[in-house]
Amino acid sequence: MKTLLAGLLLAAGTASAAPVFHFNYLAGTSIQAQQGFQAAAARWSSLLNDNVTINLTVGFNSLGGGILGQAASAEDFHTYASVRNALAADATSAADATAVAHLPGGSSFGMLINRTANNPYGAGSPIPYIDHNGDANNQLLYIANAEAKALGLAVTPQTLQGCIGNCDGFIQFNSDFNFDFNPNNGTDANAFDFVGVASHEIGHVLGFISGVDILDYNSPPVNGPFEDNEFTYASTLDLFRYSAASAAQGVIDWTADARSKYFSLDGATVGPQFSTGENFGDGRQASHWKDDLFIGLMDPTAGMGETLHISGNDVLAMDAIGWNVAAIPEPSGWAMLGAGLLLLVARQRGRSGKLS
Ligand SMILES: [Zn+2]
Repeated sequence: MKTLLAGLLLAAGTASAAPVFHFNYLAGTSIQAQQGFQAAAARWSSLLNDNVTINLTVGFNSLGGGILGQAASAEDFHTYASVRNALAADATSAADATAVAHLPGGSSFGMLINRTANNPYGAGSPIPYIDHNGDANNQLLYIANAEAKALGLAVTPQTLQGCIGNCDGFIQFNSDFNFDFNPNNGTDANAFDFVGVASHEIGHVLGFISGVDILDYNSPPVNGPFEDNEFTYASTLDLFRYSAASAAQGVIDWTADARSKYFSLDGATVGPQFSTGENFGDGRQASHWKDDLFIGLMDPTAGMGETLHISGNDVLAMDAIGWNVAAIPEPSGWAMLGAGLLLLVARQRGRSGKLS
C-alpha cells in the first residue's frame, strides 16, 4: 500500500507548475506543527499543476473544549457564466471535457431545492421542487478564492477572522488533543493524523465545499424560511451534485434532506456519494463525501489511529472544479489502496473526531 502511494507521488512530482502555499503562523505554533502544515500543502502541490499562490494563516494552540480544530475559507460570488467559461478555457483533462460538455449553456442553471419560503408545496416544506427560473441563485456561484485563482478569475484579496493579513484560508488545530505528526509510519492508536487532518482542511480551502450547508443551517425550525433567490451559495462542486430524482429532471440536487446525493460529471454516471447535511441530512456537513465509506480524504470524520490519504476521488473532484491535476490515479490502484485503508480503519477505528 505504501509503495503504491509513494510511486504515485513520485510520478506526480514531475509537474512543471504547482500551487505555492504561503503560510502565516499564529503565535505559539510549534515548529513540528508548522512542518506538518507544510507537509500537507506539499501533498496538494504534488498533485495540482496551477501556478497560483494560496495564502494560509495556520495555528496550533490550546483552544479548550471538545473541538479538534477550526477552519474557514475565503469565498466570493462569481457568475455561473463566468465560471463555466473559465472551466471551459481551463479544461485540460478528459474529466474536464465531460464536465464542461454537460454544464447548462446560457447564464443560469437549474436545481432541485427545498425548505424555502416560496416552496410551492408550502413555506419551508421539505418536499423538493425544481427552481429553474433564472433568478439570482440560478445565476451566481459562491466559490473559494483559491479555486477562483486556479480558474484565472479576478479575486479580491480578503481576510478572515483570525487571519494574519490577507488569506485564502484559516486553519487552527487544538493542541489539547493528541496528534501524531509523522504519517510515514502509520498513526499512533491514541492520536489523530496531523498531516492528514491538515490536508483535509486545505482541501476545503481549495474549493471542496457545498452551499447546501447554508440551506441546511438556514431553514425552519432552525432559521428562515428564506426565498430561494436568497440562496446564492451554490459552489462549483455543487454543479456536480446530483440525486436520482434531480438527474431525471436534468438539474443538480441542492436540497437539504437525507436522500442519497452523488458526485457526477454528467449527471447520469453515479459517482461517490456526498454527505447530506447536519440538520436535515445524514448528520454530516454536505461539504464532504459520505461518512465512513472510505471515499477519500474529504470524509467528514477521522478516527484516532487512522491515517488519511488523498484519493483518486478527491483529485477528480478538484479536477472538475477547476484545478489542473498532475495525474489521476488509476482506478485499479486506488481500489487496492482503498481496500488496504478499509482494513486499517476497521481494525484501529477508535474515538472519532469530526472534521469541519
Ligand atoms: Zn471537512
